[in-house]
Amino acid sequence: MMDRDRLRALLARERAAFAARNPRSAAEFARASNLFGRVPMTWMNKTAAGFPLYLAEARGARVTDVDGHEYTDFSLGDTAAMAGHSPAPVVAAVKERFETLGGACAMLPTADAAWVGAELTRRFGVTRWSFALTATDANRWAIRLLRAVTGRPKILVNSYCYHGSVDESLIVTGPDGARSREGNVGAPVDVTVTSRVAEFNDLAGLERELAHRDVAAVLMEPALTNIGIVLPEPGYLAGVRELTRRYGTYLINDETHTFSAGPGGATGLWNLEPDVVTIGKAIGGGIPAAAYGLSEQVARDIEAIPGLDLIDMGGVGGTLAGNALSIAATRATLEHVLTNAAHAEMSEKSDMWSSGVQRVIDEHDLPWSVTRLGARAEYRFAKPAPTSGTEAASKNDADLEDFLHVHLANRGILLTPFHNMALMSPATTRDQIAEHTRVFEQAVAELTARTGPS
Ligand code: PMP
Repeated sequence: MMDRDRLRALLARERAAFAARNPRSAAEFARASNLFGRVPMTWMNKTAAGFPLYLAEARGARVTDVDGHEYTDFSLGDTAAMAGHSPAPVVAAVKERFETLGGACAMLPTADAAWVGAELTRRFGVTRWSFALTATDANRWAIRLLRAVTGRPKILVNSYCYHGSVDESLIVTGPDGARSREGNVGAPVDVTVTSRVAEFNDLAGLERELAHRDVAAVLMEPALTNIGIVLPEPGYLAGVRELTRRYGTYLINDETHTFSAGPGGATGLWNLEPDVVTIGKAIGGGIPAAAYGLSEQVARDIEAIPGLDLIDMGGVGGTLAGNALSIAATRATLEHVLTNAAHAEMSEKSDMWSSGVQRVIDEHDLPWSVTRLGARAEYRFAKPAPTSGTEAASKNDADLEDFLHVHLANRGILLTPFHNMALMSPATTRDQIAEHTRVFEQAVAELTARTGPS
């Protein structure tokens, strides 16, 4: 059992050290009174230490803050910087498109887009691609198209999934049935009107919901990645595919995070056959970019709907979606940075990170687990690793998580602010990983020591 008094004392000590170490970041935060929440986006207040670090520079897997501290960045923009910060081929492509050639917002297609479409097809299987700037929008637009083609009103997601701020996805299971997820700000309608929900890894529950035959699409990650990593049990994904086919429901794989699994994400790694793939963040190499790909059949079915407005006011699309700059960055990322070889190396590095964490957990006999999906890995305060989103959510431990995050930050290591996730980029080094193991071990030793905090 964790000594909670000791944990709270250690957390207070680390927060005080963080405040003392970061006077410039603290001053920037204090000054930003014309920002809502004092930050550019309110989620930036998700910080274990009380205020965020302010960015000075970032390259590869390293970040420097305004107080001059250098960090190993395992957060990597919560996957948006999986290619590393500002990789050279993307910088060159962006410079060429924006500076030399110009025309990021010329409202005209460039030849790069067809190359990207073909490459995404090679990786993910589905054949007809369209672009967005965020994964949220890719999901929203895919959902709209599948509602249009099925005439069905509902979307089904897994409990404690995350697919961006998509209204339909903010639903969880509960003892009295499906309900709105906590923190669902200004919901347009009761979420049970638009959505159904099932537990990840629960085929019987999924079938019960699909049997209503009012679900246009199941929107899911092939492994949950936003409530820790929850891996699919043997047979689960095949079962999802079989049930969705049986009940006339389309299947969308959101590969935004599971892209860590390999060059074709989990879809490629596990030979999945979704009707639609959505992906955002990492494919732009740090420039906003996202995409959704339709299977040939879905594309044809949509095209066959009489009078469907896909060109003007139809609710699908955005002025900047598919802009020449984002597409140039995506091409450079896929062609030169997040290649097959890079994915293989990133996966090896994440294995090294996970083995280090596992060794420390074992040596201290902690009831924790580490889960890995290709280039990303995450530890969770539960053993064995949870098998559903609801179970994973029940194992949250805010103080413990905050302590580990601030402790690591004070020693030059950043994890994703929302959980204990570490992602490897092509630029991440083995020395950085070994240093993480060392600092993590130090944190755990302090937590489990029998004397008072030093
Ligand atoms: N899908 C998944 C699986 C995600 O993890 C996220 C963001 N964490 C999104 C979609 C939304 O991405 P964005 O906020 O860039 O729209």
